[in-house]
Amino acid sequence: AGRLTSGERLEEDTGENSLRPQSLDDFVGQRGLRENLKVFIDAARGRAEALDHLLFYGPPGLGKTTLSQIVSRELGVGFRATSGPLLVRSGDLAAILTNLQPRDVLFIDEIHRLQPAIEETLYPAMEDFRLDLIIGEGPAARTVRIDLPPFTLIGATTRSGLLTQPLRDRFGIPLRLQFYDVDELHAIVRRGARKLNFELSDDGALEIARRARGTPRVAGRLLRRVRDFAAVAKVPADRGLADAALERLEVDALGLDAMDRRYLRRIAEHHNGGPVGVETLAAALAESRDTLEEVVEPFLIQEGLALRTPRGRMLGERGWRHLGLTPPVAAQS
Ligand code: ADP
Repeated sequence: AGRLTSGERLEEDTGENSLRPQSLDDFVGQRGLRENLKVFIDAARGRAEALDHLLFYGPPGLGKTTLSQIVSRELGVGFRATSGPLLVRSGDLAAILTNLQPRDVLFIDEIHRLQPAIEETLYPAMEDFRLDLIIGEGPAARTVRIDLPPFTLIGATTRSGLLTQPLRDRFGIPLRLQFYDVDELHAIVRRGARKLNFELSDDGALEIARRARGTPRVAGRLLRRVRDFAAVAKVPADRGLADAALERLEVDALGLDAMDRRYLRRIAEHHNGGPVGVETLAAALAESRDTLEEVVEPFLIQEGLALRTPRGRMLGERGWRHLGLTPPVAAQS
């Protein structure tokens, strides 16, 4: 972890709140998803009911948390946030749920990492707005039922495949976030520069957008690094400067960093382009399988640099070209 171009949230991202768009109209990209959300929000407001539970899924850094905050703001209701790993005891969840106001949004990040006991507490809460708490232990244990205000649960996950079926079934509206295209990221970078009072040329912003791995969080991070670089270099922030800064940070023309390149090179050089199992790759690269699957691979696969096949990972044609290598004849077909 700690990689500049990974979409994961890092320590240095604490400043990113200032870059968060505040309304749906302010939010760039994810057009189809945004249009759907608008309909659901308007309908819920019109009926003065809690919005159906929503599940946002997709790679880290694409705006799941941001959208959840926007939903609560557009609904004009309160926002409470927690995460799967933070909820250790059912009592933690009960305390949060019983403190909600009617129609509030409860956001649970990394919802695929909920403890099974907590997940079970959540089912009746989501379905019937009630909590069944078990008080005491052994023969003296009894169940206490507590009614909850109607609320909206928004779950976010990078791995919808790891969600249990019963939990998945309880979300009325599953919404998938996509990587952003360069134009969208360009708009996000320009807007971010304005917010930071950073005079960045349009082509400088474009250079950052091109190398942001389709991910607004990465774009924001690169933007802040380029700003630092410009402050030290005391030259206008244009394309040349952005390029020099990103070069220094070892972010290449496609936005790949050293880890991405090691991943691709490993498949090329040690496995002749693959297929190779993800576990083997993870061991060779000293990364966890989860990190490869959640953070590294989605972008490489979407860009055709790597391929996920039933027999394992393979290098895509673009991957060979990006490394400056010629694919073996068999891999070209
Ligand atoms: P996730 O929850 O999916 O990991 P976040 O919602 O925390 O991602 O977003 C990460 C960063 O990217 C935040 O700083 C946020 O402001 C920014 N961001 C995400 N989506 C957009 C967008 N569409 N427009 C502008 N900034 C965005």
